[in-house]
Amino acid sequence: IELLNTPPDAVETRFEEQIRPLRMGDFAGQQRLTDNLKVFISAAKIRGDALDHVLLSGPPGLGKTTLAYIIASEMGGSIKATSGPLLDKAGNLAGLLTGLQKGDVLFIDEIHRMPPAVEEYLYSAMEDFRIDIMLDSGPSARAVQLRIEPFTLIGATTRSGLLTSPLRARFGINSRFDYYSPELLEKIIVRASGILGIGIDGEAAKEIAGRSRGTPRIANRLLRRARDFAQVDSEALINRAIAMKTLECLEIDEEGLDDMDKKIMETIVNKFNGGPVGIASLAVSVGEEQNTIEEVYEPYLIQAGYLTRTPRGRVATLQAHVRFSTGVERSEGP
Ligand code: ADP
Repeated sequence: IELLNTPPDAVETRFEEQIRPLRMGDFAGQQRLTDNLKVFISAAKIRGDALDHVLLSGPPGLGKTTLAYIIASEMGGSIKATSGPLLDKAGNLAGLLTGLQKGDVLFIDEIHRMPPAVEEYLYSAMEDFRIDIMLDSGPSARAVQLRIEPFTLIGATTRSGLLTSPLRARFGINSRFDYYSPELLEKIIVRASGILGIGIDGEAAKEIAGRSRGTPRIANRLLRRARDFAQVDSEALINRAIAMKTLECLEIDEEGLDDMDKKIMETIVNKFNGGPVGIASLAVSVGEEQNTIEEVYEPYLIQAGYLTRTPRGRVATLQAHVRFSTGVERSEGP
């Protein structure tokens, strides 16, 4: 079962909407970011301005979308949400921008995947609240300038390094999300279970939190699975035994590493003798896309202390050798 690298399906999206915090006060963690945002939001409101454009970067499931919705509601405006790959024509972007009211938020998820031709239209929209659109082509072509109400663009990205510098420069607020501590995840689990009316005891919440890979979305996924196990066993409460059974059945280890995490580390340690190994060879060896390894798996393995990035490639740490070595050094096969 894939806990990590799957976008939410329709059922999960409904579930996420149900438990998604709506106010800054319910949003756990990312303390420095939310403290700063509170100040920027109050100041913008006092001045009667739109909030500066905000770039939120970090691995999937850490709350970027959630925070974008909270910012919009704290500003008292509404939010229009889209994503980079959906904005395939400048016309789509123009339609969204001209529909905004003063102080509204335009949220663009996966903003690094916006086509360059569309991105260019965004520059003047962000800077001067106008867009220049070309109507017709050939001899009858003419430029029309459309005014846009002062708005806030919130961009989310798993790969801030892939943003062009002109785009990055137009964000006044630029923040990176960190993985959550087990204590924070425990709070998030307890809050979500309260909203869903699922009973969970402290020990069970702690077990699940410790194995959620620092990620609220995973914590919530595990909570839902634990609820299934509790219901099948006719237990009214998710207790430690139910939590452990769930985690065992899903093959989540003590650190929350999943199959692909382990495969990546075992491959580097055993097949490539600890590295350095280039990302392209690694991707082929483990059978996962290079992008996904870089966006989803690596950041956590690095923070867990198993992997480092060097100019020559990925290198396993001593801790990784201790944990993932099979003892038999293999060399690359033919
Ligand atoms: P991202 O946009 O970074 O991929 P989301 O904002 O969609 O992540 O978050 C996934 C789910 O995790 C949300 O539905 C929400 O319920 C939960 N979540 C994320 N961050 C928090 C948080 N700080 N506090 C409580 N719940 C959170």
